Amino acid sequence: MDRSLDQLAHRLLIQCSPAQVNVAADIAAAHDGGLVITGDSPEPIVSKLRARGFTGPVLCDANRYSGPHRVNARRGLRPAWCRRQHELGLIAVTDSGYLELGDWDSLRSILYTAAWQRGPVIAMLPLAARWLFHREDVDHMARELDAHGVPVAIALEHSGDPFGARYVVRHFLRLLRKVSVPVLVLRSDVSAIGALCHGAHAAAIGTTSTLRHLYPARSYRGGRPTTVSVFVKELLSYHRLDTCEAVFALAPETGHFWLCNCAVCGGNTLARLRTAENPRAVALRHSLHSQFLTYRQVVDRRYAREQLASVWHNTCSTALAAHRRIAEHASSWRVPDHLRRWCSVTDDPLRHYRETLLPNAAPPLPASPTPEPRSRGNAHRSRPDVGLGPGPERNRVPMSPGRRTTPRTSTDAPPSTDCRGTSRSSP
Ligand SMILES: [Zn+2]
Repeated sequence: MDRSLDQLAHRLLIQCSPAQVNVAADIAAAHDGGLVITGDSPEPIVSKLRARGFTGPVLCDANRYSGPHRVNARRGLRPAWCRRQHELGLIAVTDSGYLELGDWDSLRSILYTAAWQRGPVIAMLPLAARWLFHREDVDHMARELDAHGVPVAIALEHSGDPFGARYVVRHFLRLLRKVSVPVLVLRSDVSAIGALCHGAHAAAIGTTSTLRHLYPARSYRGGRPTTVSVFVKELLSYHRLDTCEAVFALAPETGHFWLCNCAVCGGNTLARLRTAENPRAVALRHSLHSQFLTYRQVVDRRYAREQLASVWHNTCSTALAAHRRIAEHASSWRVPDHLRRWCSVTDDPLRHYRETLLPNAAPPLPASPTPEPRSRGNAHRSRPDVGLGPGPERNRVPMSPGRRTTPRTSTDAPPSTDCRGTSRSSP
């Protein structure tokens, strides 16, 4: 592996637009993270970043594969794009177009061209999620990646959350196990942390819904959403602020789920973000800080891969149990699909060890929130939706205080219990 890729190892990155880069850089620096700048004019941005003293890793995503006018991968790569990034002292990310399902020729062309670039290069692979549907295709892709020996960055096109699909979680993890080249995940959300726990080299959380997803061109969701959503750390998912406020007001027994001790919230409830002068800007900062706190709580470089997988599985199980408690009070509360899938597809590889050899040991999950780092360069390093996706941000607030509606849940699973036995089957 190119030694220059070492700087990205185990890192959580923030994928942002040029307009958000200063905010993202401050937060990335506070948590020892990195940046993915989305756009085709990185030079002035990177220069300003370095002048401001940002020393973390920076990647550039040309974003040719996204939006209603996206470019098809058959158009090929532009070597000048990689040269421009190298001149900035960066690891180059290819400006690949969208890879249609089954377009193996274009996949190989991207890998081949990337392999012949001078300087460190990451091949960008914007894939339709269905590339991961068949196990045989995943194994074939792994062989192609290894044959060319080029690090790759994958973004998965899906109408919703790709990691809400069982086959994506199962086969993406299979791909990570099969390949020997470094695999990065771009344009993702909290599942980026799950990917890191299962062997991804680095992974990026997006600042907006369109930077957390790669939507099909026909359903591209550009523009600014009308509602403000925030990442709720205890639930590992994004929720609308107005939903948070109503749930907290009508179901105080779940109020601790809305408390946040990130640098923005300072231990207050997320509902207070609505009173800020610019709720959207504050919500963004909170959501990024909060996801980094989750990352720091879960990802420890000293852990072996099995330990990381164990902690991530238990973190998802705890969040799923929290959703089920809320669903007892909010009649239409929807448990996010990604948590169901991570819980049902993965297992705790250390469960047998903990249950038999350490029966009284606490689960490998911090019981209390991790405090915000006080300064940049914290040595121990560790997702929003904006009411557009089909996930929990669409949760309205039809509350049923004092009444059990149990729409999808039948038990009060205690935190850190395995959820495989109670989760709904995936499609
Ligand atoms: Zn916060």
